Amino acid sequence: MSAESMAYVAHKSCGCVVMVHSDKPQYAKDVARELAACVRDGYIIERVPVETASALPWTESYGRCSHDSPAEAKQREARKQRNEATEKRKEEKYQRALENLRNPKPPTVIA
Ligand SMILES: [Zn+2]
Repeated sequence: MSAESMAYVAHKSCGCVVMVHSDKPQYAKDVARELAACVRDGYIIERVPVETASALPWTESYGRCSHDSPAEAKQREARKQRNEATEKRKEEKYQRALENLRNPKPPTVIA
């Protein structure tokens, strides 16, 4: 089977998929980065035919699924809130930078 028709899937121990990535050679760098992140998060990686990958059950956002234990669900919620807080800080920083561009402060004169 050629690499064109294979895909990497990252899934939880229950089998629910968190990420699918095509194994096409032009995506090699992206694949490496995505898979490294999935390994860090403790997911299981498999290389399967694309048809198999597309038939697997998917998780919801942040890898949530109906098989989560209450502790896992709590961890996931905490991670989601951290990510959202980070995104909010980034947005605020961007808005401040934009504001500074629109209204530049006069230069400080050193006597
Ligand atoms: Zn699951």
